[in-house]
Amino acid sequence: MQLIDGKKISLELQAEISIEVQKLKAGGKKTPHLAAVLVGDDPASRAYVRNKVKACENVGFKSTLIEFEVYVSEQKLLAKIDELNNDADIDGYIVQLPLPRHISEQKIIEAIKPSKDVDGFHPINVGRLVLNLPTYVSATPFGIVQLLERYRIETEGKHCVVIGRSHIVGSPMSILMAKNTTLANCTVTLCHSRTLDLKEHTLKADIIIAAIGKPDFVTADMVKPGAVVIDVGINRVDDLSQTKGYRLVGDVKFDEVAPKCSYITPVPGGVGPMTIASLIKNTLLAAKKEIYA
Ligand code: NDP
Repeated sequence: MQLIDGKKISLELQAEISIEVQKLKAGGKKTPHLAAVLVGDDPASRAYVRNKVKACENVGFKSTLIEFEVYVSEQKLLAKIDELNNDADIDGYIVQLPLPRHISEQKIIEAIKPSKDVDGFHPINVGRLVLNLPTYVSATPFGIVQLLERYRIETEGKHCVVIGRSHIVGSPMSILMAKNTTLANCTVTLCHSRTLDLKEHTLKADIIIAAIGKPDFVTADMVKPGAVVIDVGINRVDDLSQTKGYRLVGDVKFDEVAPKCSYITPVPGGVGPMTIASLIKNTLLAAKKEIYA
């Protein structure tokens, strides 16, 4: 069994991006600029945004954090989106989700200019993904594809079972793995909470991608020997031995599944760090106008 070290690959990617940024600057081009909009004071969202801003600084990007209090009106947020859409210095921006209930996430996402939507959540970018057109791929699935590529894990002709069909992970993941490219070309089965006899599907999988949000959900009896297992889940479980009172676990019961696998991602240190690296990569694509001229 080989552990897929997402932290290492993420740092490698960021180092490569940093060199590209230096080249851009040396060539007289502007510094890539990512803005992040954070509404409210949810500690997890705050931590995610802080890490994204820090990663921007590490690669030499300019970053701007825009904060609103939790009761900001939808109208005020839309006005800020309009401002960001028209700010020529900002190459891409993200609005950290979830938003408070009084704000329509869909309305906000649809207000983002597709050419600046580096999270890849806008319907136009999702549509472009489905049509195999250049687009910003949602950061987590994009990160997973890059992990498979860097570890030279063969995907062509393999059976990939994706568990979870969310708009940000499971659905785009299934589309990516089924694409007609050498980095994918899988036969894909997309499972969800209404799937009958999930185990019947997972046992046939050469590659399992678990994005469910349930700790230790995928157990050894669900995994074929030699399978590749990608664990997207980030779940907090109580653990009084930790200073924080909890620890993070994935959707896969790592200790019993790992010995059966050819490759597996740990939690933390697997998919998570790649999500940030992919966002940074999307921002570089935006700055270089590689998706939208
Ligand atoms: P969602 O809650 O949006 O989606 C969960 C999916 O799992 C749904 O499609 C749901 O099915 C399915 N599901 C739930 N229960 C079962 C079950 N018993 N059997 C089969 N399928 C089931 O979650 P996300 O996609 O946003 O996130 C999934 C996990 O990944 C979370 O732990 C999240 O924290 C983590 N995550 C990690 C990231 C990273 O960077 N590593 C980034 C984003 C998320 P249905 O559609 O039928 O309800």
